[in-house]
Amino acid sequence: MFKEKFEKIIEGYTFDDVLLLPLKSGVEPRDADVSSMFSRHIKIKVPIVSSPMDTVTESEMAIAMARYGALGVLHRNISINEQLEMVKRVKKEETIIIRDVITVDENTPVNVARTIMMTRNIAGLPVVTAGKLSGILTKRDLEFSDNKGLVKDIMTKDVIYADEDISIDEAKYILYKNRIEKLPLVDKKGRLTGLITAKDIKTRERFPDASRDNDGKLMVGAAVGPFDINRVLALQDAGVDFIVIDTAHAHNMNVVNSIREMRKKINIDIIAGNIATGDAANDLIDAGVDGLRVGIGPGSICTTRIVAGIGVPQLTAISNVADVAEKNDIPVIADGGIRYSGDIVKALAAGASTVMLGSLLAGTDESPGMEMIINGRKYKSYRGMGSIGAIKAGKSDRYGKLENNSFIAEGVEGAVPYRGRVSEILFQLVGGIKTGMGYVGAANIRELHEKSIFIRISENGLRESHPHDIRIISEPPNYQNYQ
Ligand code: 5GP
Repeated sequence: MFKEKFEKIIEGYTFDDVLLLPLKSGVEPRDADVSSMFSRHIKIKVPIVSSPMDTVTESEMAIAMARYGALGVLHRNISINEQLEMVKRVKKEETIIIRDVITVDENTPVNVARTIMMTRNIAGLPVVTAGKLSGILTKRDLEFSDNKGLVKDIMTKDVIYADEDISIDEAKYILYKNRIEKLPLVDKKGRLTGLITAKDIKTRERFPDASRDNDGKLMVGAAVGPFDINRVLALQDAGVDFIVIDTAHAHNMNVVNSIREMRKKINIDIIAGNIATGDAANDLIDAGVDGLRVGIGPGSICTTRIVAGIGVPQLTAISNVADVAEKNDIPVIADGGIRYSGDIVKALAAGASTVMLGSLLAGTDESPGMEMIINGRKYKSYRGMGSIGAIKAGKSDRYGKLENNSFIAEGVEGAVPYRGRVSEILFQLVGGIKTGMGYVGAANIRELHEKSIFIRISENGLRESHPHDIRIISEPPNYQNYQ
């Protein structure tokens, strides 16, 4: 029995064990399409997600990620209320269709309407009377008013409005053609259902690839504990787009059963993890998840493999899960261990649809980590969610607590080099992915899954892969070797 364990031992591969073969290609890197499924119902233009860690993703990171076409997952090392506030901040950052429109009645006194417009900084107030849109009060209407009388005396009566099902392009045309700033939307019965503003359309055009919901708001996800149904329901109410069941070992049947119950109570996408085997994928898919997060121990700050002796080298873990997930049309998120854009290409080739990053994003302006100078170079703090600092600071139970609230750390605390803005990092990473796809001849992620072939390399092969026999005096932004 014991000897057999070694006779039948399986090999596992990770990023530095392999390379991808260059194949005959008709694909120019600039033409490679990197859009990908994040979960069953969410497609994004850039296949990168920021990790729910307290030195990586709060609102600012989530906004920057979504604007670029990627996604952020808010960490959960905070109270439910704090996390809800973060969701609301992301959701308020940009919008295309305002739903909670501030309105006045025809019989509202002009001075009251003026105060509303001034205090709320609104340039045009739709006027709703007896439940129906009857006019709009603009700054121009107010300009020559003596502030007396009622809104109906001075409002614009022939208000330009549109059907609530109008497309953004049509709305833009109407706004520009009529030189107006606000377009009220009404339903078949003439009731106001929303408002589109020229300002919001302009913002949208600055970020054409942004990950947005149906109302044009930036998408955002949030991490939750596997048994925290109160947090899940509150997040859904606050408008979060998906939740990530955030546990160190999702193939725990208490967790799986809890997810099955959550599935019945919410209708947004549920991503669960972390896992590393096909069996785990099967059980979670059976419980109704919409996405799988893969990685047991590959993270840069992680000590699980050392402390517990558990883990699966990351490319093998991704392929284990992807084989099961693909049959069920469930996307796989490769989480942890990614240091260079080449690692992302390998993770995608091994079956992932997106990757989740911690350390590569922790050094950016948008991360919440603390800045520090070490030996004259700027760094930002970065720590594992299973590190002593993170466990003591927060509310998370991702890593197991033992009796008497004692715990065994599964992560370390440290610092990563400062890396500027998230958009600059993402630009470099996406460029690397596209370059890799060009070498493989993959026009999109599906083709990368199908066509790519791995080659096993030796330690010498790895040494040859990195720059060698040179003292590097200038590091390009996509190659920082600070070990
Ligand atoms: P990185 O991109 O830094 O290599 O890895 C980030 C990932 O490591 C996270 O998304 C998460 O899955 C994992 N992780 C974060 N904190 C810890 C920790 O303290 N212990 C372990 N085992 N994994 C962690």
